[in-house]
Amino acid sequence: MNIIFLGPPGAGKGTQAQLLTKELGIPQISTGDMLRKAMREGTKTGLEAKRYVESGGLVPDEVVIAIVKERLAEDDCKNGYMLDGFPRTVFQAEELAKFAKIDVAVDLDLPDEVIVERLSGRRVCPNCNATYHVSQLGGSTVCKNCGAELIQRKDDSEETIRNRLKVYTEQTAPLIDYYRRQGILRTVDCQGTVEENFALVKRALEA
Ligand code: ADP
Ligand code: ZN
Repeated sequence: MNIIFLGPPGAGKGTQAQLLTKELGIPQISTGDMLRKAMREGTKTGLEAKRYVESGGLVPDEVVIAIVKERLAEDDCKNGYMLDGFPRTVFQAEELAKFAKIDVAVDLDLPDEVIVERLSGRRVCPNCNATYHVSQLGGSTVCKNCGAELIQRKDDSEETIRNRLKVYTEQTAPLIDYYRRQGILRTVDCQGTVEENFALVKRALEA
């Protein structure tokens, strides 16, 4: 099954996709993770992406489309995959349709006021990409999976979060209608705990 996760920043796309990877055995493809890796390694793509990512804007369509196209051609995508953070514009969705067949788009829905709280308390593992909220960590600063020191993403500062929300509303939210018109949209209310939301996501995929 080829799955897209839609939803505002902080809705839990990455978290849910990671849980589902273990369950379904298909890879999670996160353009955000790939861009941050490229930035750390200082590749051409990384250098190109840096100023957009750090300000909370969108990286140019051609750049992300090229990364995704290349990634989907790899062997582990043959039996299905989950796209997390792509597409983010209608143009990206139209281009994606030229080289991939998407079966279902899961829209993780969350009110704006919850988003800022979640993102400003988010900590991520730079090594394995696991994400946590400070409220789950009980004062610990290391990753439960791999022991690496957790970091706060630069774009999880309050001002950048507001900009990402604006960008989401203007450029990404129209994709909800785009996939609804294609008859493959499933909406999941993500205000609950990670476990509750995961149960709802699985149910949405079975439907
Ligand atoms: P979140 O879902 O929490 O906003 P991501 O890790 O998905 O975070 O993305 C972080 C940043 O990477 C975005 O704000 C944007 O700058 C860039 N990015 C990721 N995916 C895309 C995409 N499909 N198109 C353009 N920019 C992207
Ligand atoms: Zn880790």
